[in-house]
Amino acid sequence: MKIIENFDFKNKKVLIRVDFNIPLNSKCNITDTTRIDAAIKTINKILSGGGSVILMSHLGRPKEGPEEKFSLKHVIPYLSEQLNLTVKFADDCIGNSAKDLASGLKPGEVLLLENLRFYKEETKGDEAFAKKLASLGDVYMNDAFGTAHRAHASTTIIAQFFPKDKLFGYIMDNEIKSIDKVLHEAQRPFTAILGGAKVSGKIEIINNLLSKVDNLIVGGGMMFTFIHALGGSVGKSLIEDELFELALHIVEGAKEMGVNLYLPVDTIIADQFDNNAKRKISDVKTIPEGWMGLDIGPDSISKFTEIIENSSTILWNGPMGVFEFENFSEGTKSIAMAVAKATEKGAFSLIGGGDSVAAINKYNLKDKVSYVSTGGGAMLEYIEGKELPGVKAIKG
Ligand code: AMP
Repeated sequence: MKIIENFDFKNKKVLIRVDFNIPLNSKCNITDTTRIDAAIKTINKILSGGGSVILMSHLGRPKEGPEEKFSLKHVIPYLSEQLNLTVKFADDCIGNSAKDLASGLKPGEVLLLENLRFYKEETKGDEAFAKKLASLGDVYMNDAFGTAHRAHASTTIIAQFFPKDKLFGYIMDNEIKSIDKVLHEAQRPFTAILGGAKVSGKIEIINNLLSKVDNLIVGGGMMFTFIHALGGSVGKSLIEDELFELALHIVEGAKEMGVNLYLPVDTIIADQFDNNAKRKISDVKTIPEGWMGLDIGPDSISKFTEIIENSSTILWNGPMGVFEFENFSEGTKSIAMAVAKATEKGAFSLIGGGDSVAAINKYNLKDKVSYVSTGGGAMLEYIEGKELPGVKAIKG
């Protein structure tokens, strides 16, 4: 497999699948530049190596062809500023403008293609469409981890047209290395922390992790399905009735595999789903009728903190409570701080999944953990043990 670090980019036109699916406000101004910022290192590496860059991405979910609010042209001013050059723009990703601009591209120049999803062929993984895109460049690079779990034209199908000249960019490389480090080379003790609303989306993850971790901490809304299945009274806390049996199965599975499964012992309960609801601390197994658990309690926080701070590898996905409500955010904040402290002591910590990433950012701890994954769904499928089509297309 070719590696970005020592690839010869001289006089090559490198077609990069980036993830510029950025949020825009009603005036089409970018409200969060993280994804663009993350791509700069890869682009500069190619430019400084004497190559030119053709960027392709999707933005939003356009339904029928081009739509102004989903145009990638909104990215041009910021991207040009960050790269310190004028980014060229093809207003159709496979039309004549793209062909002409790509063929005239000189080393050191950058061309951005219009939104790939203005063609339905992109998400359908259409081969003819992928071939047209492929004709624009000499080398294919995938640096969009967020879409690596989709077999779309630009993320997967296109790779076949570059049997030798295909590689990952820095973002993909880092994502894969960091997740592999946790899944396949974890230093022990290895602790996984799972939270978030529901068990249902996390079953595969739990099953895959049980064979790898020493400790599994479960918090968030999903803990109540376990507590109820084990005979506790959870009031009107969030539960998934159809998953009681599965929850018991997981508890048994953990025992059989020698995994310490930690559920909260106490919880912060509320009389309604509101930041200003009445609240009190309750034993997790005896929540009064009409009350619901919206965070983990202080005894659970101390126990979880102790386990986390004594771990050498940590994987965290999902908040411990409804951290969007200030009054129910203490559990998530404390866990985030414990992960940061463990990292300071030498642990490798990987944070993944939309809401735990949001929590880490909210508490300004992004630089105090080892790696924050940018690819929500892709990262979750990877830790479920699935082979991502976008990864396989390059590696395979
Ligand atoms: P997920 O997308 O499954 O990771 O869930 C994240 C969401 O779970 C966040 O928006 C939290 O507010 C929510 N959540 C966490 N704990 C609870 C809880 N105890 N009850 C209801 N929702 C919760």
